[in-house]
This record gives sequence, C-alpha cells and structure tokens, in this order.
Amino acid sequence: MEWIDTHTHLFSDLFKDDVNHVVINSHDKGVKKLLLPNIDESSVKAMEELVSHFPGICYPMMGLHPTSVGKEYRNQLRILYSLLKNRPDHYVAVGEIGTDLYWDKTFKSEMEIAFKEQIRWALEFDKPIVIHSRDTLDWNISIVGEFKKKEPGLRGVFHCFNGNIEQAKAIMDMDFYMGIGGVITFKNAGMDAVLSEIPLEKLVLETDSPYLAPVPYRGQRNSSEYIPLIASKLADFKNLALKEIARITTENARTLFRL
Ligand SMILES: [Zn+2]
Repeated sequence: MEWIDTHTHLFSDLFKDDVNHVVINSHDKGVKKLLLPNIDESSVKAMEELVSHFPGICYPMMGLHPTSVGKEYRNQLRILYSLLKNRPDHYVAVGEIGTDLYWDKTFKSEMEIAFKEQIRWALEFDKPIVIHSRDTLDWNISIVGEFKKKEPGLRGVFHCFNGNIEQAKAIMDMDFYMGIGGVITFKNAGMDAVLSEIPLEKLVLETDSPYLAPVPYRGQRNSSEYIPLIASKLADFKNLALKEIARITTENARTLFRL
C-alpha cells in the first residue's frame, strides 16, 4: 500500500534531531510522498533543505500561514511571491493559507487580504490551494466560493477538516477536497456521521505533524509515519478495506497536486 501525507511540517524544530530517520521510517511504512506546507519566510530554509535531501519524496508548498500574518505581512507576501514566481514548477501548491481567529483577532482584515492575494497566486500559476481554517470555516468557504464563481478552475483542499455536513456539502459543491487527520481517532470527535456522508473520492489524508497526533499517540509529537493509523480509522468508519482507502486517497492526492 502506498500513502501520501498531504500536510506535514517535518521542517519544524521539533524534528531537527531526527528528521532523516522520520522520513525514512515513513517511507518504509508506505508513506511515499510528504507534502510540506510553508509557514512564512523563516521556515523556507529548513523546508528547502529537506526537499533537496529527499527529492521525489518531500515536496514544498509556498504561502504565508494566517497565524504569521502580522504588521509585516505585506513584506512577507512580497518575499514569498517572488520565491514562487522564480520557480513555480518547484512548488506543488500555494499553502498553507487561510484564516485563523482562535488565538488572536487583531489582524482579521489583513488575514483576509493575504488569503485573497494568495488565491490569486494560485490562479496565476495554476496551483491548488491548501486552506487552514480555525474558527473560520464558514468564512473561508464563502471567500473561496466567491473566487470559484469567477474562476471555476480554482482547486484545493480544506486541510484538517472538522466541519459539519452542510459545510462538507458546500466544499463538495466547489469540487474541493477535505484533508483528514488524527482528529478522527479522538473519542467524541463526532466525525463518523459527517464522514459517512462524504465520498472517499473527496478526501485526502494528512498528519499535520508535529500537531494532532492520532490515538494512541495523542498529545505526543505527530509524525508522517502515523498516516496508516489515521487511514485504518477511516476504513472503520467507511467499512472499507484499508487497501481501498490507500488506493483512492493516494489517487486523490496525485490528482489534486499533480504528482
Ligand atoms: Zn499546517
């Protein structure tokens, strides 16, 4: 079985002592491709080092994460845009982008401006968008929906999806994917009812490492090695064989990110 982790921050400091080991271990467990969403200017170097070290395994994205949108966001956007423009083929997506009102609402309007500007980058370079939502799923759906009306080719994934059935339907109407991670293994996450309504053809798998480790590693450092654990929970919910989950979610990731 072959898997793709569509969202993993293996360039994080938490992996600095053993990232090579983690990539090789993940690969041994069938997690053959690892997609790396950028955070801001400060994460680019570590991300690119990992990509040069593991060509054909680690693939970078380019974008400004909403929690890194602050006073200097214009400057950040300028720098990250020029990296993308210099090598558009190098990046598999514009990500991660979106909005987040969980920790801080100070830069709410700047987040919206940055999100929209980066959606335009995706359209310019024909890339999928990888969307972060925290307490902002409806808002993000409406922003993407506005673009989608004018630009039907816009594509992407609502990463770390934990919405309700109505939100899932709105996302499917836009022909976007939903990223499913360790949260589905948490008791009381209540995702089984929602997931039963979403066809496997609309789902991709992700860990969001180092965050949100699945059970039985909940609370510990997450790792791309745990993709099969997330998949086996999904197999339970869907009452499907694990190898069906692998086949379809991997195919979805290949299609969306053109791998
Ligand atoms: Zn992320």
